[in-house]
Amino acid sequence: MRFLDHNRFSSRKIWGRKPFITMMTDLSFLDFHTHHLNSGENSESIYNARFSEFDSLPKTQRISLGIHPWYIEENTVEEQLQIIEKAIQAKRIATLGECGLDRLTSAPLPVQESVFERQLILANEYQMPVTIHCVRTFPEVIQLVKRLKIKTPLIVHGFNNKPEVVQQLQKYDFYFSLGEALLQDESNAVKCLKMISLDRLFLETDAQEISISSIFAAASKHLNIPVSILKDQIWRNFQRITPIP
Ligand SMILES: [Zn+2]
Repeated sequence: MRFLDHNRFSSRKIWGRKPFITMMTDLSFLDFHTHHLNSGENSESIYNARFSEFDSLPKTQRISLGIHPWYIEENTVEEQLQIIEKAIQAKRIATLGECGLDRLTSAPLPVQESVFERQLILANEYQMPVTIHCVRTFPEVIQLVKRLKIKTPLIVHGFNNKPEVVQQLQKYDFYFSLGEALLQDESNAVKCLKMISLDRLFLETDAQEISISSIFAAASKHLNIPVSILKDQIWRNFQRITPIP
């Protein structure tokens, strides 16, 4: 029974009295990407840290750290890249990000591309997963990944784009993290959900004031899969890509 090798079961008596199905529902929800430090009840999260608070965060909190295209300050990039690299070496971060490209923000695209490129190269060197912010720049992101021959896990977060984009990204083995858009039945995210291989899926709350359990409930409804199975699958996906336990 493969799902018994999950970390969350390790301290439990696997063959105790508790019925197996109850044990599965005990698994916490994993919020793959959030800007809120306090995850909800029965959930764990990857908190997207700001550079200014990074050192003071509790060591038990999983975090991601990266240079967001909205907040590029060219005179701090080198210093921030060094902070990211030290954090990777110290096994302090679960993913590098969020970082990426955004056609609607003020920083010129070539500047964004050079900062993103540096982060992709760094992540690839250490085989760190990358949480990617991508707004109207999927061709550019794919080009960069191809040109740089990036082989580390890449996760497009907040995905709510067309099915054709899923197909393109799947050719390059991207992961997808879906969030709030799953709460709207007619969204692209709902249309794409069934196309995404379950072993390439994550769920998130991002900056929204919503619970991760509501996102899992929506995904479970649209996929017609029990929440408990989804929780287990997403923990396995995370454990497959993360360099830290
Ligand atoms: Zn975000």
